[in-house]
Amino acid sequence: PFDVLIVGGGPAGAAAAIYAARKGIRTGIAAERFGGQVLDTLGIENFISVSHTEGPKMAAALEAHVRQYEVDIMNLQRAEKLVPAGDDGLIEVQLASGASLKSKTVVVATGARWRQMNVPGESEYRNKGVAYCPHCDGPLFKGKRVAVIGGGNSGVEAAIDLAGIVAHVTLIEFEAKLRADEILQRKLRSLPNVDVIVSAQTMEVTGDGQKVTGLVYKDRGTGERHTIALEGVFVQIGLLPNSEWLKGTVALSARGEVEVDAHGRTSVPGVFAAGDVTTVPYKQIVIAMGEGSKAALSAFDHLIRTSAP
Ligand code: FAD
Repeated sequence: PFDVLIVGGGPAGAAAAIYAARKGIRTGIAAERFGGQVLDTLGIENFISVSHTEGPKMAAALEAHVRQYEVDIMNLQRAEKLVPAGDDGLIEVQLASGASLKSKTVVVATGARWRQMNVPGESEYRNKGVAYCPHCDGPLFKGKRVAVIGGGNSGVEAAIDLAGIVAHVTLIEFEAKLRADEILQRKLRSLPNVDVIVSAQTMEVTGDGQKVTGLVYKDRGTGERHTIALEGVFVQIGLLPNSEWLKGTVALSARGEVEVDAHGRTSVPGVFAAGDVTTVPYKQIVIAMGEGSKAALSAFDHLIRTSAP
């Protein structure tokens, strides 16, 4: 069995693996896709001390760094179930392949995925105008026109944030009114360069083959279609934690995020969690790495307190 088994191979999982392995304990990492969301990212400009890098390059560097240590890397492995420790003190992680792994501690780092609109043009123009993270990609649209899709708290926060950077923001909400907190809505409406369109269904992201040129929406009242000319579309209709496999065993928030305390401990003894899958706010690489490191140190602390010498 492992001392620490990490599930997930994104920034949080890679950091946890390195911190655990440096303690000289038996460390394994099982991931569906090593690299995680970083693989889907083009430019990264907010990873502190690296002014610019690219997603695939960072993902390769994450893996190379983990490989410098004695870590059992199990790529292309999907975890389907976690079984808390029984009398033998070992936590079991069952994989889709039918295999099962046992470990004294587990670090859950399965990340999250952005909910997509699933309209024509969205995936074609991903990273070519279609974006999901205002903290990451906002500055790329300096002086340009963008739309934000979604009028919940994250959409309205994104619109307020972007309004300070870009030339113009159009916020598009499917329902007849915004769902964001009143105080955010008031702030939004006070901004001169923001338009809000409600009861609008996004139908298509248009482009010239290279980049986004506009957005087509349908007025849900009249059924009429309208086109807005713009350079960017920020989709803010939800970030879904990859925690389905933990339902019923590990305490999750109403949004499905794994609840963790300041040490990265979950509700199950010996099970820790880090990164985008958790309740920790602000889903970013630098934060996921910090949390992953912390979870591994907490797992080590748990081991020295609970294991026989
Ligand atoms: P993830 O990166 O999501 O990794 C999760 C890992 O778990 C993956 O290996 C996945 O395959 C695996 N996994 C999932 N489910 C299972 C399962 N059941 N069994 C086994 N393995 C599983 N952040 C920035 O700081 N700067 C940026 O510029 C930036 N740009 C971004 C651009 C895009 C398009 C996207 C999508 C995100 C961007 N982010 C950016 C956010 C950043 O990528 C995430 O915050 C970060 O990757 C989270 O790390 P993580 O390790 O928690 O999760």
